[in-house]
Amino acid sequence: MSDCIFCAIVEGTGPAHIVYSDDDVVAFLDISPVTSGHTLVVPRRHSSGLADLDPAIGGKVFAVGQRIAAAMRSGAIGADGVNLAMNDGRAAFQSVFHSHLHVVPRHTGDKVSFVKGFLTRRARDLETVAASLREAVESQP
Ligand code: 5GP
Ligand code: ZN
Repeated sequence: MSDCIFCAIVEGTGPAHIVYSDDDVVAFLDISPVTSGHTLVVPRRHSSGLADLDPAIGGKVFAVGQRIAAAMRSGAIGADGVNLAMNDGRAAFQSVFHSHLHVVPRHTGDKVSFVKGFLTRRARDLETVAASLREAVESQP
């Protein structure tokens, strides 16, 4: 889709800190993270939401989300919890209409609230975080 920011990232024409990439799926850091390491997993082929997302591809998106979640626990981020979320539709907080799975690392006692909407923080040191996550993803069996 020509005016889709996530399609541009998938095609390599939009800037992003890539965490993982394969033939069907790309994962990159959220530009406005809920917590440090907050990653978005997207299908390469554009779909706007759940309804037009091929379930087989959705399965691959979820599997990559599981893998990144494990890396957030095993790697330097040291998460002791992870939220996976897909916002489908404006009423559900969707603001970018290219299907994406949020993978949000959590730590006991952090002050994240999903009930009131995302409380975002200023992005810090994205390249270091992305490199750390890349390494943790790659070092998994
Ligand atoms: P949604 O509200 O649609 O579920 O989530 C969209 C997410 O995309 C938000 O968390 C927002 O910070 C992120 N986002 C919006 N524009 C960009 C961008 O250009 N690059 C990156 N990496 N993330 C973006
Ligand atoms: Zn798109």
